[in-house]
This record gives sequence, C-alpha cells and structure tokens, in this order.
Amino acid sequence: MGIFEKLSSMGHEQVVFFNDETCGLKAIVAIHDTTLGPALGGCRMWPYSSEETALEDVLRLSKGMTYKASISGLNLGGGKSVIIGDPKKDKSEALFRSFGRFIESLNERYITAQDVNIGVPDIKQIALETANVVGTDKTNGGSGNPAPYTALGVLRGIEASAHWAFGQRSLEGKSVAIQGVGEVGTYLAKYLMEMGAKIFYTDINKDNALKLKENIEDAQYVHPDEIYSLDCDIFSPCALGAIINDDTIDQLKCRVVAGSANNQLKENRHGIILKEKGILYAPDYLINAGGLMNVSLEREGYSDKKSKQMVDTIYHMAMKIFAFSKEHDIPIYQATDLLAEKRIKAVKEVRTNYLGKT
Ligand code: NAD
Repeated sequence: MGIFEKLSSMGHEQVVFFNDETCGLKAIVAIHDTTLGPALGGCRMWPYSSEETALEDVLRLSKGMTYKASISGLNLGGGKSVIIGDPKKDKSEALFRSFGRFIESLNERYITAQDVNIGVPDIKQIALETANVVGTDKTNGGSGNPAPYTALGVLRGIEASAHWAFGQRSLEGKSVAIQGVGEVGTYLAKYLMEMGAKIFYTDINKDNALKLKENIEDAQYVHPDEIYSLDCDIFSPCALGAIINDDTIDQLKCRVVAGSANNQLKENRHGIILKEKGILYAPDYLINAGGLMNVSLEREGYSDKKSKQMVDTIYHMAMKIFAFSKEHDIPIYQATDLLAEKRIKAVKEVRTNYLGKT
C-alpha cells in the first residue's frame, strides 16, 4: 500500500518526518484529525527495528488519540510522535531542543507530551523551544504524575459499570480483581478500598505486589495465572493490552471488565463474545482517559479541582455508552467508536456548512 493510500485508509491528515543530522534526530509526527482542536499526544522514544515499524506505530497510536479525545469530550484532536533511537544512548539536550523546534514549526497543530521512554527532564528540554508541550511536574506549573487521575477515571468507569450491571453505583462489598499494581493499579486499589470494595490483586513484579500489601493489608494476593478465573464481581486489567483473548475469555467468572490497560480486547470479536457472555466491558480508552484530561488542562491553567471535576465526567459518558450499546444491540467497543466518530462528524459538518455559507 502506498503512503497516501495508507493515510487515507486510516483517516490521517498529515505525517511529518524530521531529520537533524547534527544531533541524530529522526522523528515522525502523525496528526490524525484536528476537527475538535489541536492534536495532542505523547512522544515515544524507541529503537524501532525499521522506519516502517516506527511509521506503523505512530499512525496507529495517533488514531487512537483522536478517539480518546473525542469520547472524553475534550476539544482536542489526535496525534502522536515517535523518535527513532535508543533511549539509553541517544538522548541529548540538542536532540530534544531540535525536536522542540520541529514541533514549533507545526504552528500549534500538534502538542506533544510524555509517552514511553520520555520523562519530565526531556519535556523540559523540548519546552525550551516550543510552548506546544505539556506534561511537566507540578513544581514547574505542570500537571504532574497522570497515574492518580487515570486511576480516578478508572474508578468512575467501575462505578458506572457497577451501576449498569448490579443496579447501584456503590462499590461497598463488591469484589474487584486487579491485574497489575504498578502506578495506576496501586492508586486504584487505594480508591477502591476507600469505597468499601474487597480487593484481590496480582503482579509479576514481587516488589510491587509487596508494596501493595504494605499499604492495603486486607487486599488478597493471587497468582498471576489465577486472576482470570477468580470468582469476583469486577476484573480490572491494569497491566497489559490484549488480555481478553482466546486463552482467557472462557476463564472469566466476573460480571464486569473495567481497567486502565490500553487495547484490552485482543480482537474485536472478543468484545462480541463478552457481550454474548453477559459480561459488561467498560470501554478502555474512555475510562483510562483521566491522565489525558489532567494534562490537557495545562493549556488553560492547571488546577487539581478542575481536573477531578473533568475526570468525574467519565462516569456519565460510560453510562451513555452502555445505554447506546443496549439501544442498538451492539458490543460496547463498537458503541464507543461510533459515539466518538459521531461527535467528530457533527463538528465537521457544522464547519463545512458554515464555511459554505460565508
Ligand atoms: P506500570 O508499568 O506502572 O504498572 C504495570 C504493572 O503491571 C507492573 O507492576 C507490572 O509488573 C505489572 N504486570 C505486567 N505484566 C503483568 C502480568 N502478566 N500479570 C500481572 N501483572 C503484570 O504501568 P501503569 O502506568 O500503572 O499503567 C498500567 C496500564 O494502564 C498500562 O497498560 C498503561 O498503558 C495503561 N495506562 C496508563 C496510564 C497512566 O496514566 N499511567 C494512562 C492510560 C493508560
């Protein structure tokens, strides 16, 4: 497939390749859709095996950001960038400043942020050259660690799921099995405990598992292989993507799947199977959007209160998606995509009509 054909098939507006021999920068910025606002999405640094793999990754990730921003009600488009390189060897001030200058040349069409292998020190260097960057720490006027806000959004998604599946929002006495107690899973466990939920958890990292037990004594550890078949109300994947797959789906005894991991369904057909089994699936890219909401506020003046209020809206949006899925008898992943697309299409049409009349 030719590159323009590829962009058309995925709906991308623009892809920009940056090359700076003086510092070894090789970067790709993909702007998927700017109908709702400037494209916001993190920058990932990775030693890609080929330029094609890097391009595939940035195209896929940027499209995902369009859907996430749209369903979350943000006035942002979807974009993402990748820097091809080894984060252990190739990072330098010159490289990030050069990247910042390139971002600046895009005239506010793309705003960058942290992603895999890009941290606050890198963001600070990018920010020396462009204002179109978010994700610094709170002491520097930024929005800080996104994980607590992501976890709060997941909690709101779990509450909406409980309301839909069990008839009440309260999580008192509900059993929740958390897969992965890293950054997000740990905050989530804390919030769930405060809500009176019974917590089961697992992690392949012993230190993380121990740390959780130290903080939440009543939480019960289970072996990583046992988490799927646990007799619980809610399964919360907070580790990896593609964990709802042919190997795991028949083991599930829960009524709800709701967690922070991206792309939890290995394939769309697994979303159909969940529906057939009567398991409610909280849309991953909506309920894990708390971090994006939090960082988006940096542009208009960050406040923790505003951020939490925004994250709370995830509850209402999740309820809307569940109702839409029921009304049209379609799986939740499809309902979520359709609603995200509908918002963009409506704004696009209004704009086209307006421009047509002037
Ligand atoms: P993290 O790396 O801090 O934590 C992930 C945890 O999962 C680790 O403790 C790891 O040991 C554990 N894990 C990995 N494989 C496992 C397995 N097979 N079984 C059990 N445990 C396993 O990551 P995080 O920041 O907490 O993010 C968790 C998930 O949420 C990721 O998929 C991430 O992409 C997604 N997410 C995170 C954010 C955020 O704000 N951090 C935002 C959106 C989505």
